[in-house]
Amino acid sequence: MNPADDRERVILLTNDDGITSPGLLALKKALSSLGRTEVFAPDRNWSAASRTRTFHKPLRVDPVPMLDGTVGRATSGTPSDCVSLALLGLLDTRPDLIVSGINAGLNLGRDVSYSGTVAAAMEGARSGIPAVAASYDTLQAPSADPDYDQAAEFIRRLVAFLLARPPLPAGILLNVNVPYTPAGRTLHARLTRLGGEAYSNYLVTGKDPHGREYYWITGDPLTDEAAGDVGTDLRAVAEGYVSITPIHLDMTEHALLTTLRSWEAELDRAA
Ligand code: MN
Repeated sequence: MNPADDRERVILLTNDDGITSPGLLALKKALSSLGRTEVFAPDRNWSAASRTRTFHKPLRVDPVPMLDGTVGRATSGTPSDCVSLALLGLLDTRPDLIVSGINAGLNLGRDVSYSGTVAAAMEGARSGIPAVAASYDTLQAPSADPDYDQAAEFIRRLVAFLLARPPLPAGILLNVNVPYTPAGRTLHARLTRLGGEAYSNYLVTGKDPHGREYYWITGDPLTDEAAGDVGTDLRAVAEGYVSITPIHLDMTEHALLTTLRSWEAELDRAA
């Protein structure tokens, strides 16, 4: 046995829905059999915060009792801040893995760049720590208080799998989306690429009580028919599979870069 295997695994948990989110609690319960779970989560909902960082004011971190009787840490920062705080010294060790979620609602396609759930996992990938962003299709659940246990059980299976094998290269995170799953159904996974937009976008306008116009940017999930090509995360979830997409922090368009190199000389000539 590798000496490192004797050490207790440490899994850092965070989310963007806030520390009281039932998805986070379900995740903690499911993963606690795999190691020591440590929660650093925002004290409020930061959904769609993307990689917002707090640089212009100090942050607060408070212990809060979780519903399973353990203590988590609630921070006044964003999801990215939560992971940073843990990795920059508030967690007593470097975690073996970071899991962000389980988010209430899917994070698919090009819309992942808005996601605070994915952003928190990116903060792990930035530090070379294996990271998983986990989201569940709560919109399809018949209850307003959806049960995350099926999704959490799949994430437990995935995390056990990841911990037992060599880590992925640094700078990579896994974006995992679980379709709505009634109890008792076994989930199967597809490895996917990101699809297109997952939501429509439109504006709701109105007048506030003082007669002043307001504008509310909103949207609806696009239908399964709009889910796009075979092989995408959108298509996989529409067909009832768990989607697992490897995401790289390097957003460079490498293929086009080679073509565009000729611009260097052309721009010189235009000088
Ligand atoms: Mn969220």
